[in-house]
Amino acid sequence: GTPVLEVRDLQRHFPSASGTVKAVDGVSLTIGPGEVVGLVGESGSGKSTVGRCVVRLDTPTGGEVVIDGTDVTTLSPRAMRPLRKKVHLVFQDPSSSLNPRMTIRQIIAEPLRLHGLANRAEASARVDELLRQVGLRPELADRTPHQLSGGQRQRVSIARALSVEPALLIADEPTSALDVSVQASVLNLLADLQKERGFGCLFITHDLAAVEYLADRIAVMYLGRIVELAPAVELFADPKHPYTQALLSAAPVPDPQEQRERSRIVLGGDLPSPLDPPPGCHFNTRCPLATDRCRTESPALRTLPDGRQVSCHLVSEDGTAPNAKSA
Ligand code: SF4
Ligand code: MG
Repeated sequence: GTPVLEVRDLQRHFPSASGTVKAVDGVSLTIGPGEVVGLVGESGSGKSTVGRCVVRLDTPTGGEVVIDGTDVTTLSPRAMRPLRKKVHLVFQDPSSSLNPRMTIRQIIAEPLRLHGLANRAEASARVDELLRQVGLRPELADRTPHQLSGGQRQRVSIARALSVEPALLIADEPTSALDVSVQASVLNLLADLQKERGFGCLFITHDLAAVEYLADRIAVMYLGRIVELAPAVELFADPKHPYTQALLSAAPVPDPQEQRERSRIVLGGDLPSPLDPPPGCHFNTRCPLATDRCRTESPALRTLPDGRQVSCHLVSEDGTAPNAKSA
């Protein structure tokens, strides 16, 4: 079927006093109907900006965004309005995204009413149903956001996002502002709803365990660019980019035995500023395998014979990858 999202060579550059910040610098990815794509990276990698550009909370400075077959790149906010039904965003912090003066019923019903999909009585019945689907008692409908817990509020924002049955859900760190004790249940809820309803999902996170659980494919971002893109199972079994190898080596694993057997790659230094990225491969200042070539020549994002994508000079044509652990 038609992809629910196609992002082509997306750029979000903005001027600053000391030069151009390339927050997003040429990102391309596609999400098929019902597919979950994880977008992973450290804070400052540009992953949230990609999500914000897709829903037009931020304006791309280059490239194209196609939602369910419609190129929305140059649409005015007014022309964009009917498409807002197709794509919804769930934010990291539900307390700042839910209007504190509205009741839960009003919050969840608002998209239905904005898009003219339900009259008041229909919307009200739909709210009860949606609350049950996200595991909340319908009695909560008459409360306001501050009367709910963080986990309950995030369930409300998920109900609101799903009220209009979007083709694409963008979830930006949907559990990272929540207590650790409720993170798993909200993640499970998202996974269950996704399977039941089959919406496409761009899942933005720094949490590798979460993305391994939810995503069909994973894109790894570093300083505004995708450095590796692969099916989740293959990425975890055989990470090819040294940065992906480092991220995976640092992630906690459920089996402590396995943890001991994995040697950890410790990245030196912080993420460089997108205002002044290192020349050549952006990762060269932290890569244990960097050579002189890496400091001058930027590696292209190449498609390997099995369809995976990676940008590293040391990955060969047939996909044989270096091991940063042995460096
Ligand atoms: Fe490391 Fe060089 Fe590969 Fe970049 S191109 S990831 S610096 S080996
Ligand atoms: Mg972010």
